[in-house]
Amino acid sequence: MPTIKVNIVTPDGTVFEGDRDMVSVRAQSGELGILPGHIPLVAPLSIDAVRLKKGTETELVAVSGGFIEVRPDKVTILAEAAELPSDIDVDRANAAKKRAEERLARAKQDNIDKKRAELALQRAMTRLKVAKG
Ligand code: ATP
Repeated sequence: MPTIKVNIVTPDGTVFEGDRDMVSVRAQSGELGILPGHIPLVAPLSIDAVRLKKGTETELVAVSGGFIEVRPDKVTILAEAAELPSDIDVDRANAAKKRAEERLARAKQDNIDKKRAELALQRAMTRLKVAKG
């Protein structure tokens, strides 16, 4: 069974490197399921969990935006931030979620503050989802 090389990289370094059967991501244009041999593409990502499948196992990685580059034998994700479940501080993510929710409640008139708070909320929710597994 062919596999695909996966690299998840942030400005701080490599978060994940390994061979997997399938990679699922949420691109801004929608869900992408990538199997070995996929046609090349580059796409901006939404803030969400990336799913890495090998056999019957699925691992989640929290990815805060960035880009995916697909080649037939390799997937590279370049993200502003990415965390494995074991690296996630759940208390910190809960505090960030609460802060973002409070800002959203106050930011009704201000579109810039609202967008920032929405993105912060998405990062926190993604981290909590990945930490739970
Ligand atoms: P916070 O408000 O808690 O800083 P944030 O969403 O603004 O959250 P980011 O700017 O996305 O944080 O990330 C900054 C750095 O902190 C990145 O290296 C990211 O991996 C790390 N990070 C953020 N939140 C967590 C968390 N809950 N657990 C572990 N690492 C985190």
